[in-house]
Amino acid sequence: MNQPKRPSFPARLGPLTSAPAAGRPVRAGVGAKPAAAAMYAPSGVGLDSAAVRTRMVQRLAASGITSAAVLQAMGTVERHLFVDTALVNQAYEDTSLPIGLAQTISKPSVVARMIELLLGAEGARGGLGRVLEIGTGCGYQAAVLGRVAKEVYSMERLRGLHEKARNNLRPLRLTNVHLLFGDGMQGYAQGAPYAGIIAAAGGDALPVAWCDQLAVGGRLVAPMARSNGQQILLVIDKTPYGFQEAVLEAVNFVPLKSGIA
Ligand code: SAH
Repeated sequence: MNQPKRPSFPARLGPLTSAPAAGRPVRAGVGAKPAAAAMYAPSGVGLDSAAVRTRMVQRLAASGITSAAVLQAMGTVERHLFVDTALVNQAYEDTSLPIGLAQTISKPSVVARMIELLLGAEGARGGLGRVLEIGTGCGYQAAVLGRVAKEVYSMERLRGLHEKARNNLRPLRLTNVHLLFGDGMQGYAQGAPYAGIIAAAGGDALPVAWCDQLAVGGRLVAPMARSNGQQILLVIDKTPYGFQEAVLEAVNFVPLKSGIA
């Protein structure tokens, strides 16, 4: 699939000011003459993506995310590179956004919350081992996971999104993130056992394969529909004595579907 080249963040606006502050180089507007570029120069601050991400991370910390590894990963991965050009300005807002084929990229706060849960006590001991993600979507969460886990296997059932994620992730060269096209309800036995399994789509029952492929001592974090139709976040720990389940807050994920398309 051929993707149009993405703009930088925000879409190139040319120099921020016509007269640079002392010691601060003017950012060259590509292909723009200084005079013309000055006309488009934004007057606000914070249009630099690192600064906007830092503010997003501050909001995540204020809302209760405490894992330094998660906050650092969220501050590093450029979410604006994963959304369509028209949505770039909303990339660091705490909102889910369409990624095509009727699917959405999760809100940053939900991504951070779920990864923090996935890390659990293991996070405190210095990072996760192998992780399986169900629902690659645009590849954003896979990229964040790639920064907190040793190895990430991420499965997507829609070919169009699998390819989109491939294109999005290629320039990041995350050699520990492996994208797989297939039905995540079957898991991915070749990579098992997993220290963590995380689902970005919610079904109404837990696929047996996920429980089987989870390592003893591993943790699964997934949205799940309850009998009243409400979706909740489920955390399951596989202990030497069996599974321990915790039901957490209400969430709103796209449905988990079987088969590929
Ligand atoms: N983590 C993603 C969010 C994607 S939304 C991101 O950062 O963009 C959830 C994704 O789960 C959708 O792309 C949907 O197609 C996918 N999905 C649903 N059921 C699936 C299944 N059985 N196997 C693999 N992917 C599935």
